[in-house]
Amino acid sequence: MIAFITVANILWFITLLFWFLLLIRKPGHILVKVPPYSLSRFVYNGSKLNFEHKNETFSSLSMLDTQEDGGMIQPPPMFDCDRNGLPSWCSECCSLKLLRSHHSSVTNQCIPWFDHFCTFVGSTIGKQNYGYFIIYVMSIELLMIFTWITVVVYSGIKHSMHSALIVFVIITGALSISVAQLEINLISDLFYGETTIERLDRLSWKRSFKKDDKNNENFYDYSSYVNVQHPHEPNLRLIVPLTINDKPYDNGVFKNIRMWFYNINQLKTPIDVSNFQYDMYGDKFKRDIQKRIEENNYRIFGYESSIEPVSI
Ligand SMILES: [Zn+2]
Repeated sequence: MIAFITVANILWFITLLFWFLLLIRKPGHILVKVPPYSLSRFVYNGSKLNFEHKNETFSSLSMLDTQEDGGMIQPPPMFDCDRNGLPSWCSECCSLKLLRSHHSSVTNQCIPWFDHFCTFVGSTIGKQNYGYFIIYVMSIELLMIFTWITVVVYSGIKHSMHSALIVFVIITGALSISVAQLEINLISDLFYGETTIERLDRLSWKRSFKKDDKNNENFYDYSSYVNVQHPHEPNLRLIVPLTINDKPYDNGVFKNIRMWFYNINQLKTPIDVSNFQYDMYGDKFKRDIQKRIEENNYRIFGYESSIEPVSI
């Protein structure tokens, strides 16, 4: 009995400690506001190809010639974008949404490595408190398993189980299975370089593909893309679609874990943040994107007349 009380109290202490730590640590936020990428030149060049294609004059495009990108920064070789090739912008923070961030209405900030909002602990889980959350969930799981085993063994010795204990064993057993599933997901996301929100988004697309035979090419149906520098033409950029199996930020288990512990407060300027965003892409993902470009599976940024992939 003394051993049970000691172990149970240690587990309770660890659980409460890590709950406290993940609340005071908070999910983190990006200290630097990143201005929009300077893209009008590439839009113009893509549109020019389109007009050349239609044998129209360029005069109607002269307004684009005068378009300035004042106060903007040069785009990196690749960035996440929408179907038009544009990056996500947070109007609340007046910043590009980089470092896998989403805007949290709870903290009113963009949270880097946004994982999810956990109603159970009352906190958003992001870059800075993800590690604490994993240990917190693990300690709850151990506490439930330990209590469950103790009650079952104790009842076995007594050769009887009170009806209240039967209900307790059933509920604790069911809860411990769902908490174990959560813990497995958290650790596998850590290993495979995905956040909960990224994995759920990918899986929801995967399910929608099964229902729709037309989208049999495994692509995201033009919903997720990257905007990439053309490999040979420095003045052109390409919009390349992702597939439902792409994990853009998967850099292998060890680097994925190291990424979570990287101190993003070292990123002092918008260029630092933008460069780091590009460094986060996995080598395999970069190779896959280049392969898709070689296979003409892209659209030219600014070339608005065509949704189908075109080559120049
Ligand atoms: Zn924001």
